[in-house]
Amino acid sequence: MQIKRHPTKYMGNEYRRLVDENLNWEIRELQTANEPVCTVDGKEVIMLCANNYLNLSTHPKVVKAMIEATKKYGAGAGSDRSISGNMTIHEELDRHLAKFKRAPASLTYQTGFMANEGLVPQLCGRGDLFISDELNHGSIIDGVRLSHADRAIFKHKDTEDLVRVMDEAEKHKPPYEHIWILTDGVFSMDGDLAPLSEIARIAQEHGAGVYVDDAHGEGVLGEGGRGIVSHFNLSRDQVHVEMGTFSKAFGVIGGHITGGEDLRNFAYNKSRTWLLSGGVPPGVAAACIAAIEVLESEPQHVKMVWKNREYFMKAMKDLGFDTGHSETPIVPIMCGDSKTAKDLANFIWKKGIFALPIIYPMVARDKARIRTQLCTKHTKEHLDKAIATFEEGGKKLALI
Ligand SMILES: *Cc1c(COP(=O)(O)O)cnc(C)c1O
Repeated sequence: MQIKRHPTKYMGNEYRRLVDENLNWEIRELQTANEPVCTVDGKEVIMLCANNYLNLSTHPKVVKAMIEATKKYGAGAGSDRSISGNMTIHEELDRHLAKFKRAPASLTYQTGFMANEGLVPQLCGRGDLFISDELNHGSIIDGVRLSHADRAIFKHKDTEDLVRVMDEAEKHKPPYEHIWILTDGVFSMDGDLAPLSEIARIAQEHGAGVYVDDAHGEGVLGEGGRGIVSHFNLSRDQVHVEMGTFSKAFGVIGGHITGGEDLRNFAYNKSRTWLLSGGVPPGVAAACIAAIEVLESEPQHVKMVWKNREYFMKAMKDLGFDTGHSETPIVPIMCGDSKTAKDLANFIWKKGIFALPIIYPMVARDKARIRTQLCTKHTKEHLDKAIATFEEGGKKLALI
């Protein structure tokens, strides 16, 4: 037998194919802290593509908490939380998060990706069904793939289509034992919101579970940044798993889930990513606690990111840009084809504005865009410069 693919030649060939087709990801190098003005690849730029919505990654209280816990407890947890690495500070973080979310229980993971990949496949098995929004995040898609359950997709945010899928599912023989509806809370490429109240209502009618991934809504939506369940004023009986991350608005790293005590107990007994991988360093847990405390005691950060978002959004719309379906501090600047998006991204980059083009296959071929993300510490001057640069580039490329 002759194996067709040479192990490393394959990688080289595949990489060159991506480059040839203009699909390769070029990573840039951030040489300063992730702040509204930073140095990237040796160039000073205004940062318009960070998930650091509240700029908490450099908040003095968060940084201080990380340093102090590291001095006290060391650089690492020394083990998986399931073995001997479950430190008091991890438990404190779980409890503090649940309190912040006004829920019975939370469980924190090493990352949001690991929360989805660990928990989702445990919810449904053979004879069960996942129903997923077509634009859900890759970590949900991978989680679903790890399970033996059936899968169905509903059109993005389309609750009529969700009802159609549910009705189909009701006819399945033998009847499904469990059905879970999975949705992002804020969709990362468009900045639009899941119709969560309606999804919860449909789920309740059919006895299905609701799992929402609120990675981009955490710290931004809801009362004091409590997230999408708070935003829609839903109860833990309506949304059974609220998943989120500390790597975006909270400015640190770590995934989490919130719901009832049963969810927590189930999740840490079943999620392989939690059971079989190291716990986050104590400094990380302490920084996450501090970030939650900042949200509780300094409401101005959440207010400011929304203020900046409104200012930027209005100016871009007034100029005639298509800002898609944005409802959050993620504001896409729609460009049409990939080339226009890349050209506009290059233009603004040369003028000192950093935002990435989002192109096929991340979005449909004719829906290429530049995704901008606003943060708390953008000043009016930063935003005015970004707006003027977009105006110049948009006119040059006949977008406005
Ligand atoms: C970023 C993101 C994740 C992954 O979170 P990390 O904590 O960075 O691993 C999961 N889901 C969605 C929707 C995201 O945007």
